[in-house]
Amino acid sequence: MKFWFSCNSCRKKHPFRLTETKCGCGGTLMVEYDLEKVSQTLTKESLKSRGTSMWRYKELLPVESAHHIISLGEGWTPLVRMKRAEKAFPVKKLWVKREEQNPTGSFKARGFSAALSIANEYGIKKVAVNSNGNAASALAAYASHAEMGADVFVPKDCPGLIVEECVQYGANTYLVDGLIHNAGKIIADGRREQGWHNVGTLKEPGRAEGKKTMGLELAEQLEWNLPDVIVYPTGGGSGVIGMWNAFKQLKQLGFIEGDLPRMVSVQESGCQPVVDTCTRGGAFTAQKDNVISSPTGMRVPSPPDGELIVSILSESDGTAVAVSKDEIKQAQTSFGKQGISSSPEGAATWAGFTRLIEQGWIGKEDEVVLFNTSHAMKYLPWKQHHIPIIKTYQDWLNIQYAVS
Ligand SMILES: *Cc1c(COP(=O)(O)O)cnc(C)c1O
Repeated sequence: MKFWFSCNSCRKKHPFRLTETKCGCGGTLMVEYDLEKVSQTLTKESLKSRGTSMWRYKELLPVESAHHIISLGEGWTPLVRMKRAEKAFPVKKLWVKREEQNPTGSFKARGFSAALSIANEYGIKKVAVNSNGNAASALAAYASHAEMGADVFVPKDCPGLIVEECVQYGANTYLVDGLIHNAGKIIADGRREQGWHNVGTLKEPGRAEGKKTMGLELAEQLEWNLPDVIVYPTGGGSGVIGMWNAFKQLKQLGFIEGDLPRMVSVQESGCQPVVDTCTRGGAFTAQKDNVISSPTGMRVPSPPDGELIVSILSESDGTAVAVSKDEIKQAQTSFGKQGISSSPEGAATWAGFTRLIEQGWIGKEDEVVLFNTSHAMKYLPWKQHHIPIIKTYQDWLNIQYAVS
């Protein structure tokens, strides 16, 4: 066996499988690898001649045969040094990991490349996901590329351009009157009857494993010296979970040493179960009501394994911060003025970063990486354009003098 499941709670091992990622004890099953075998081919040296997609780390992804890989060129995104901001704050070093450069414009591409490659290996033909938008459009794109049928379910207030993107990638797209977990219930209820393979967060192993490559890549791009702090916009949590697994595996492989980064989750106030649990202490509790934040990837009141997210933040000596909608808006402008197009989630990391600087939680000796998980354009208001089409000057004149 090259890989298997291990429960993150009771540590019991299980054979790898496509679905059912919950252990009998209630813990989540994470993929473990035969690292001795991995290290025979995956070396710092061998990486130097590999292709620039996340599949350069194929030994650490749970796909048996490279023939089954479904790839649109995801991963190996730029890591940009922000020298002007370093001086202004000050911090020792600041980078932005430009995940918006992925196919489909968000880091969700990584998760779906892995998830659909695994599904492909198992002969799956029909997939479904509930999402706040980017997971839906990523599934739509990868499913079409893999010749699978896709049904995607998003809250009805999800950004219109992202919905349009799902339609254009050919997915059956449904707007749901409710939040992401209400959309998830539809899939859970119809899963048997419709034969859907559920690619929702932590419903199968691929999403978190794909996102793990963000951590592997960050380490390699920084020549195997991890930063002190990673700021990440958190919703379902597979990014934090995946990256943390990456660092542990790299440590076991001997690729990195020393302390792992302090992990920071940023959420928008109004939907902040991770922040609330960290502030209050104790076991994770989902947010039951008063979900009033914007429709973004961070709006997940009831993540599938919130306990795992907060335990990682605590193990890493990290923290969680809630930032307001206005702070996010301002942060988008701040990023913009530094040449970075950021989605609300990406901008939230900038807002969280400046807050933690003010609080002295991030200091001048710290090296910090912010994850810009998507770009601004996908979130712009979308409407059918009613711009008239003209051919001649006379047409133009007619428009000018038309009585409206
Ligand atoms: C899904 C999403 C998030 C949240 O990421 P998780 O790993 O699910 O916590 C953040 N930003 C964007 C743009 C997203 O699409």
